[in-house]
Amino acid sequence: REMNPAETEYHQAVEEVMNHVIPFVNDNPDYGKAAILERICEPDRIISFRVTWMDDDKNVHVNRAWRVQFNNAIGPYKGGLRFHPTVNQGILKFLGFEQCFKNALTTLPMGGAKGGSNFDPKGKSNEEVFRFCQSFMAELHRHIGDERDIPAGDIGVGDREISYLFGNYKKINNIFEGTLTGKGVSFGGSPIRTEATGYGLVYFAQDMLNHHDNSMEGKTVLISGSGNVALYAAEKAIQSGLKVLTMSDSSGTIYDKDGITEEKLAYIKELKKVKRGRIHEYTDEYSCEYFDGGKPWHIPADLAFPCATENELNADDAQNLIDNGLMLLAEGANMPCTNEAVHLLKNADVLYGPGKASNAGGVSVSGLEISQNRQRMKWTAEKVDEKLYSIMKDIHEKCVEYGDNGNGIIDYSKGANIAGFVKLADAMLAYGPI
Ligand code: NDP
Repeated sequence: REMNPAETEYHQAVEEVMNHVIPFVNDNPDYGKAAILERICEPDRIISFRVTWMDDDKNVHVNRAWRVQFNNAIGPYKGGLRFHPTVNQGILKFLGFEQCFKNALTTLPMGGAKGGSNFDPKGKSNEEVFRFCQSFMAELHRHIGDERDIPAGDIGVGDREISYLFGNYKKINNIFEGTLTGKGVSFGGSPIRTEATGYGLVYFAQDMLNHHDNSMEGKTVLISGSGNVALYAAEKAIQSGLKVLTMSDSSGTIYDKDGITEEKLAYIKELKKVKRGRIHEYTDEYSCEYFDGGKPWHIPADLAFPCATENELNADDAQNLIDNGLMLLAEGANMPCTNEAVHLLKNADVLYGPGKASNAGGVSVSGLEISQNRQRMKWTAEKVDEKLYSIMKDIHEKCVEYGDNGNGIIDYSKGANIAGFVKLADAMLAYGPI
């Protein structure tokens, strides 16, 4: 905290992990002697660079960009790129740190990284986004590669941006290799990658409920966001018998008491992915309530899937949800709940699924994309979905193994933090003090 006082999100993420890992290390002193905690909190390196690009009116703009290569103890660096005006080094350190634990949980050989820029793709033309991506990759390409560091998408980096980035990487290096994941299926992408984080979230929540003798049938769910994670969480939720009451964007929330059906969701997908519109436009088509600037957390529901961004759900929101009888919250976004909110939820015996476990489906299918690229093969959607399902089951089992306090309710964050830590720390111990 003293060395980097502005990195508040990073401190928050480390504190959340250390709550569980420090007592574990005290009981297992070999990790302490080898300074694993100190080493695990310091990224291997941070690459920081300037991105200069020209808009359609020929004005020149400058953005900041980073790649945080956090830890490659168990595989090449792997983690998304985020383009959003709020991006700074502290946010990328928090995301990179979380990614190390998440990737360790997937059972696949992937280290942790994160990157991005404070560039805002919103309101930019395709040509402007292309020129930005070209300039961004002109620097990033030196630092990545399919054995070194394999970026993917995140907020503001979807199919369009990954295609521009991969096209430029391929051109600069004169090589066609799987250095980015989330590519189009016709040029090396995996089926189900787009859907994977949202689908995996619902699979994980199903396992949480089943483990506690419950099910999804007939229950209601609040979903925030209407981007990649939220859209496919909603899709799988509807298929699994849940009634989806809400979706949102950074301008407001729609609340459809009748439930967002498959047909209504198709409208939202078209609105957000193709027209790049705003969620309030849903009210032009379907009757529902709209909360301008509001979040979904005051609405009564059985389950909640926050799928927008970090710290979107605070202690007051958690209290509202608890008062309204919430039974489960599973994170689609990274660190959407403040630490105070998590504390309240757990104390109220709400089942809590931390993002590093519940949203690991996306990076898992990215891992499967890497395997397909190495084999020069494309698997079927059914095969990838089956593997995703079984990876989410394995992650759930790991959480149960380390998070069962014997009181009938699994502490999923304890389980995820310790299981991820053990995998990373054992590899780091084996390498010696490097
Ligand atoms: P998208 O850019 O596709 O969508 C983000 C959604 O969240 C949009 O609806 C956006 O609204 C909303 N949002 C973004 N910032 C804010 C904010 N400050 N306040 C309120 N709403 C906001 O991103 P993804 O769906 O890919 O990512 C969402 C979350 O999931 C992030 O935390 C990401 O790190 C995490 N995640 C993503 C994975 C993936 O595979 N994509 C994998 C694992 C985690 P608007 O359109 O108005 O900006």
